[in-house]
Amino acid sequence: MTQKVSLIRGDGIGPEIVDATVRVLEELGTGLEWEEVRAGSGAFEDLGTPLPEETLLSIGRNKVALKGPLETPVGTGFRSINVAIRKHFDMYANVRPAKILPGVETRFSETGVDLVTVRENTEGAYAGIEHTIPPNRAAAETIILITRWACERICRYAFEYARRAQRQKVTLVHKANILKETNGLFLEVGQSIAREYDDIEFDDIIVDNMCMQMVRWPEEFDVIVTTNLFGDILSDLAAGLIGGLGLTPGANIGKDASMFEAVHGTAPDIAGEGIANPTALMRAAVMMLEHLELAEEARRMDKALNAVLEEGQYVTRDLGGTANTEEFTKAVVGALR
Ligand code: NAD
Repeated sequence: MTQKVSLIRGDGIGPEIVDATVRVLEELGTGLEWEEVRAGSGAFEDLGTPLPEETLLSIGRNKVALKGPLETPVGTGFRSINVAIRKHFDMYANVRPAKILPGVETRFSETGVDLVTVRENTEGAYAGIEHTIPPNRAAAETIILITRWACERICRYAFEYARRAQRQKVTLVHKANILKETNGLFLEVGQSIAREYDDIEFDDIIVDNMCMQMVRWPEEFDVIVTTNLFGDILSDLAAGLIGGLGLTPGANIGKDASMFEAVHGTAPDIAGEGIANPTALMRAAVMMLEHLELAEEARRMDKALNAVLEEGQYVTRDLGGTANTEEFTKAVVGALR
């Protein structure tokens, strides 16, 4: 039976990088069938809702989605549609690998960086429990909700992932010295799950210290498991270590549906110019192929991407090159042949 994938082209540079990625996947001959659905600001403008029911139904049916970035208005307006989709399908694990790629010069090219952030994706500071207090927004309150159940689920996922990916260590990042209740619970659960995995090294670290350690000795880290807000920030930090947001993919994994996307946003400053780097979304597509157990196709796509980056002639401007999205994509398609 043909595997259908819900395809969301998204806002800003979304359509440019999604089209580029689909082109490579088509060339690869995966046999995947696309079901295009809408979400984000564009959907809001055209259809009056940023998250049409049909989009949720499609993801529910296909169980796999490939998504371009979606714009979220800052401060006011509709709530993040990314968060809404993740919550709707209980995509509880946000997995973001950050690895120095061949040909990409970074400050850490000698020591290397190869870490994976596993972020709790459904609760914490992003549970959406917030309100302002009148008059005139005199105060505002956001509640950090953390449940034992979700802590257990994400920590177990991190250890299982480490085992599957043959990684050596899990580092739990928290702020349990100050947020004693919520982060204390997360740490306590993580320590208890760690005892079930004596083949994997375990340590924990306070988030502020972690930021400093990550920018000085990123090679020390392997799998990082953390709460929603810290994971959001640390995974962008990790993207910076390996050469920028244009390179880092992300997977939102749930029991019933999973969604693959780039870590970066809609890049409004370069949208429509045809110069966006599609590598992050293409690497997310590689993760999607692995998830669909299309291991050989995943390996071929990964290899082609690495070959183009390593060769360096067709890399995009964010990596110091001169190629546009089209030229980069053509080079990746060429490298597949
Ligand atoms: P951003 O990631 O869109 O951009 C940050 C910087 O990185 C910009 O200078 C941009 O040009 C550059 N950049 C990002 N992706 C790139 C690529 N593929 N190639 C080359 N350069 C790239 O972050 P932002 O400006 O803070 O956010 C813009 C919008 O994106 C906001 O509405 C935000 O809510 C949304 N956003 C969406 C997602 C998502 O859909 N998963 C994630 C993050 C931000």
